[in-house]
Amino acid sequence: MTKWVYTFGDGAAEGRAGDRNLLGGKGANLAEMCSLGLPVPPGFTITTEVCNAYYANGRTYPEALEADVVSALDHIGRITGRRFGDPSKLLLVSVRSGARASMPGMMDTVLNLGLNDETVEALAADSGDARFAYDSYRRFIQMYSDVVMGLDHEVFEEILEDQKASLGHELDTELTAQEWQGVISLYKAKVEEELGKPFPQDPQEQLWGAIGAVFSSWMNNRAITYRRLHDIPESWGTAVNVQAMVFGNMGDTSATGVAFTRNPSTGDRQLYGEFLVNAQGEDVVAGIRTPQNITEAARIAAGSDKPSLQKLMPDAFQAFVDISDRLEKHYRDMQDLEFTIERGKLWMLQTRSGKRTAKAALKIAVEMAKDGLITKEEAVARIDPASLDQLLHPTIDPKAARDVIGMGLPASPGAATGEIVFSSADAEDAKAQGRKVILVRIETSPEDIHGMHAAEGILTTRGGMTSHAAVVARGMGKPCVSGAGSLRVDYKAGTLISMGQTFRKGDIITIDGGNGQVLKGAVAMLQPELSGDFAAIMEWADAARRMKVRTNAETPLDARMARSFGAEGIGLCRTEHMFFDGARIVAMREMILADSEKDRRAALDKLLPMQRSDFLELFEIMAGLPVTIRLLDPPLHEFLPKTEAELAEVASAMNVSADKLRQRTEALHEFNPMLGHRGCRLAVSYPEIAEMQARAIFEAAVQAGHKAGALVVPEIMVPLVGLVKELEYVKARIDAVAQSVMQETGTKIDYLTGTMIELPRAAIRAHVIAEAAEFFSFGTNDLTQTTFGISRDDAASFLETYRQKGIIEQDPFVSLDVDGVGELVRMAAEKGRATRPAIKLGICGEHGGDPASIRFCEEVGLDYVSCSPYRVPIARLAAAQAAVAAAKSAAKRS
Ligand code: ADP
Ligand code: MG
Ligand code: MG
Repeated sequence: MTKWVYTFGDGAAEGRAGDRNLLGGKGANLAEMCSLGLPVPPGFTITTEVCNAYYANGRTYPEALEADVVSALDHIGRITGRRFGDPSKLLLVSVRSGARASMPGMMDTVLNLGLNDETVEALAADSGDARFAYDSYRRFIQMYSDVVMGLDHEVFEEILEDQKASLGHELDTELTAQEWQGVISLYKAKVEEELGKPFPQDPQEQLWGAIGAVFSSWMNNRAITYRRLHDIPESWGTAVNVQAMVFGNMGDTSATGVAFTRNPSTGDRQLYGEFLVNAQGEDVVAGIRTPQNITEAARIAAGSDKPSLQKLMPDAFQAFVDISDRLEKHYRDMQDLEFTIERGKLWMLQTRSGKRTAKAALKIAVEMAKDGLITKEEAVARIDPASLDQLLHPTIDPKAARDVIGMGLPASPGAATGEIVFSSADAEDAKAQGRKVILVRIETSPEDIHGMHAAEGILTTRGGMTSHAAVVARGMGKPCVSGAGSLRVDYKAGTLISMGQTFRKGDIITIDGGNGQVLKGAVAMLQPELSGDFAAIMEWADAARRMKVRTNAETPLDARMARSFGAEGIGLCRTEHMFFDGARIVAMREMILADSEKDRRAALDKLLPMQRSDFLELFEIMAGLPVTIRLLDPPLHEFLPKTEAELAEVASAMNVSADKLRQRTEALHEFNPMLGHRGCRLAVSYPEIAEMQARAIFEAAVQAGHKAGALVVPEIMVPLVGLVKELEYVKARIDAVAQSVMQETGTKIDYLTGTMIELPRAAIRAHVIAEAAEFFSFGTNDLTQTTFGISRDDAASFLETYRQKGIIEQDPFVSLDVDGVGELVRMAAEKGRATRPAIKLGICGEHGGDPASIRFCEEVGLDYVSCSPYRVPIARLAAAQAAVAAAKSAAKRS
């Protein structure tokens, strides 16, 4: 027979902390605290399986549940010497929801359940405190009507405010018993008026009403949305906790409070919390009165003149300090605690691992490891790699004043300041002149990529967290605020309007991608650094890691940044990005628009020294670490002149007419450039381009090698290969150039030639391609596009709908589609190794910086991941966690 109900109380419990799945987080920890002998009011937990059975059977309870609840109430009765529903030995309970993970969408707790017109008299007599009894009853009516019967709590607050005003009271605690009785009559009348039925007087009816409300709340919209946002499966279900009440509102020797065993924002080792005298439940967080500090130290630091718990109730305080130490050691983690003091006696009502900032998480993990409470490996496992993002971008100095002019979504973390520009062209112009800009658009499209590159940050007034602007900005590591709906952009007028204030091109604004704020003017910033606790965790992570972490970088700035974040080489240098600047783009356009090989070679000759010096700088920055350089990849039309002025400029440089040039431009038009004349197809059509690039790479490698006195081994990557013959053709050219450069310089050159695996055909034929390729780098952006047949730039319009309708769980461009795209990766890795056991395998798509995808890369046994510079520490940590997890599961298997 299934056990539906688990009891706890009086130093014993039927459940344990490990029963989280069955009892929910709250229930499992209440049981654990009881077993530890801590003072916890007795109670019971109705399991998550009841929730699932409830929904499986058309919202009816399992048959045995009612009897189980009756006997569990008896269990509470035996411990407390009371009986639920019996005025002569009154037992009141709380009904608390509790899923596996804490979920804000769920039903709120109902306290003081079991009170009615009759039992409230008993409570008054029993406690000798009528004010307390009526205060409890009015709270109960208010909470129950709100959370169980759906009557908005504001109607009660209005009544209370009116009463307080007419009675001349300021605080709730000033009302007398009689005055509360008056409020209660008004409350009950209001319930009847609004709901057409009286407030339920039968304690059994109240109890089942509350239990039913918890289970129903599992499927309310708030909970469903929360689950979707946090990837919580519906099948988890929620548990219900029913627990004997203890009262923090029994006068001045009673109190209620919340605390963290360490400071959750800094991680400092100090008990950190607040309490209120003569209060109940959520009063502390509800902001009804200003709460007091728990410790003297915190009181002094806060400059508060209200006494601390330490001063006011030293015995209860000491008991609480002892318990919080004990709980932290027991759970081996920082705890978030709830407690109540009833007439001087301390009761624990909740413990759980406390939420903390990334900074606090690092500090706490490092200190606990240093104290030997956890191992270094556990410390590494405790940090959520994605949370490091908070620490890897410039952030607004917390001390700085903020003049907020608008609010959007925190689409990509970090803060940025710059002049407003409304177009990508303006962004590029300003950048070329060394000015910093914020690109302000209604929304962005693929055409804005270059403008986004040039900008310090991006602000859009439309679009969500997965809008083009948001996705691209995150990939670039640029701060972005998206969907700032209160701001209005008028491109024609060149204005950004916020609540009556008008901003124009050139005006300075700041965006905070961490919280979505848009601020007027420049604001003081703090630069990210990898030091202290952060550095310690990284060092421990590196010790546990198997895969290398490289970066995707082509500018010296990015390369240096990545090195400072611990990158172990470059996994992807996109050479085309080097062609957008100033004079280069003109030479590049000349090259593309040339209509003979001879003219093309002339233009390439101009580009050669530029490329060579770029590569030289990268080799020097990477100081002997591997550098993978990809040959020209994108469709040529991306470089074409867009405006008449640009066209004229190129025409004059090439000494041809603008008309002729325009024709040539039109000839390069493609219907579907993503699948068009790009990648190695360019090198096959125009081998001289690949030859120039290979020469630049080899000459730079020789120079860098001479300077450093050590060999530089470049890795040349041929993009978009589907046929081994494509690779062989291009490789033959590369090899020939290598031979000539060796002869010319009299220096031996070591290099690798390999390919990106970014087409399904390449994955399928990987064993053959590996005959010509010395390495594979999985270009999972394109591989995802080509496997799904979805263009990333167009995906935003339907992928969100797919997510909402449950057709996909995650955006495959953010987290690798392990079942599909991942299967191709796995297959290609295996086939590649079968042909060439020592083949180097890496990943250079956006997924290289995504922790879940990194886990997959570890499973497949890739040699490295490569990601954008800002994600390098995230990847280092995620790779370490993946290695530890893989070792664990291997140990389990053997
Ligand atoms: P949440 O999950 O929102 O924190 P809880 O179930 O923990 O909800 O309860 C809300 C408040 O009520 C907390 O302050 C808690 O300490 C208090 N509370 C819950 N059960 C009891 C009880 N049996 N006696 C006294 N206070 C309680
Ligand atoms: Mg709680
Ligand atoms: Mg690609």
